[in-house]
Amino acid sequence: SYENLKNIRKDNLNPALLTFYSKPLALHQGYKQWLFDIEGKRYLDLFGGICTVSVGHCHPRITKAVNEQMSTLGHVSNIYYHPKIHEYAKRLTEKMPGELKVAYFVNSGSEANDLAILMSRVYTGNHEIVSFRNCYHGMTYQTMALTSQGSYKYKLPTLPGFHHVMNPDIFRGLWGGSKCRDSPVQVSRNCDCGEVCNAKEKYLDQFRELFKYTLPKKSVAAFFAESIQGVGGALQFPKGYIKEAYDIVKESGGLFVSDEVQTGFGRTGDHFWGFEGHEIIPDIVTMAKGIGNGYPLAAVVTTPAIAEALSRANHFNTFGGNPVASAVGITVLDIIEEEELQQNCKNVGNYLLKELEKMRDEFEVIGDVRGKGLMIGIELVEDGKRPLSSEKFLKIWEYCKDAGLLIGKGGADGNVIRLKPPMCITKEDARFGLEVMRLAFKSLN
Ligand code: PMP
Repeated sequence: SYENLKNIRKDNLNPALLTFYSKPLALHQGYKQWLFDIEGKRYLDLFGGICTVSVGHCHPRITKAVNEQMSTLGHVSNIYYHPKIHEYAKRLTEKMPGELKVAYFVNSGSEANDLAILMSRVYTGNHEIVSFRNCYHGMTYQTMALTSQGSYKYKLPTLPGFHHVMNPDIFRGLWGGSKCRDSPVQVSRNCDCGEVCNAKEKYLDQFRELFKYTLPKKSVAAFFAESIQGVGGALQFPKGYIKEAYDIVKESGGLFVSDEVQTGFGRTGDHFWGFEGHEIIPDIVTMAKGIGNGYPLAAVVTTPAIAEALSRANHFNTFGGNPVASAVGITVLDIIEEEELQQNCKNVGNYLLKELEKMRDEFEVIGDVRGKGLMIGIELVEDGKRPLSSEKFLKIWEYCKDAGLLIGKGGADGNVIRLKPPMCITKEDARFGLEVMRLAFKSLN
């Protein structure tokens, strides 16, 4: 019963685990874009297990692949050859451009980024790691340091060797911390206009300052960036910004690491990888979430030279790319291709963005609508650009749940609705989601 679950949660699960909703949902079953609670109520899932369920809940082909592999060979570790990890490494790296041809499999996004930190330091011989203020890269101690505010939450010191650059935010302005957020440089929403191009120069100046003058010469191991910031509220970068940042990083002798944990596997619609939208080829790419449709699987893909540097020592992990995980990974790639899910992300995503943009004109509470494909952010505000209070945000959020719609939440101020559904949602699902959100916004008045 629900009461039983509640008691076990209280007594036997660490309370640090976050739950959504004033009365947390007890989910029992899933199918494609749908979830069912323990009482059988159906929800349209527009959050996809936090941008993770890429091809759909309990996709029959994934279930079949897991069953078949589990009953043939479940686990042996990487110390032996097993055909599945080899087949998968080949399939996955075929999806990568340039020299990105060597994979190392792990189990989560945090582990992947942790390993990318190590790889970049070993390869370059440098120590300094740079990332954005509003990024999210994980929850191990190192990736909390990379995530900028991670360990501060516990009033613990961050690790040496991690630095953060101010964050471009097209809607709110330059974002570098609470002081800056109180008086942001106001820029237009349209990232193609001249006003924003000026702002882009401001962002890049502080970037150059760090790489050229603040950090010792030739000391940077890597710069990490998400192609679109996920947890940070589907925040996109001004046009051309990432390419210029890439050039500055490369000039400094550092590596560019693209965190594709949320933006990979066709989710952004136009491209299979988010970094392709920035016209760069990173040195290292980290991936998780959608790669395994919810199965614990993640990877770091890099060039032969960078991979070779790591092999100066034996770098071991027990589970990475085990036969079942690899079988899931292969099936995810097959399904994305055969069901044309990347194209679907583009079609349904464009429809949602267009309709939400119309809704923005209708409701003052919608400050900004942004994103690409099925990675969408709706920033809610009051009095112009002030983040909507959490009480009001929760009202909208609970309203949607009661009406059978699950949406995500994010952004530095927790005021951004995040839509990252299974990539198989239809236009009809999108229409239902829009209608529920419209009623939820109306309910605020
Ligand atoms: N990178 C990004 C962009 C993420 O969104 C996340 C998870 N939200 C991570 C890394 C960490 O992944 P995990 O939770 O699997 O460790």
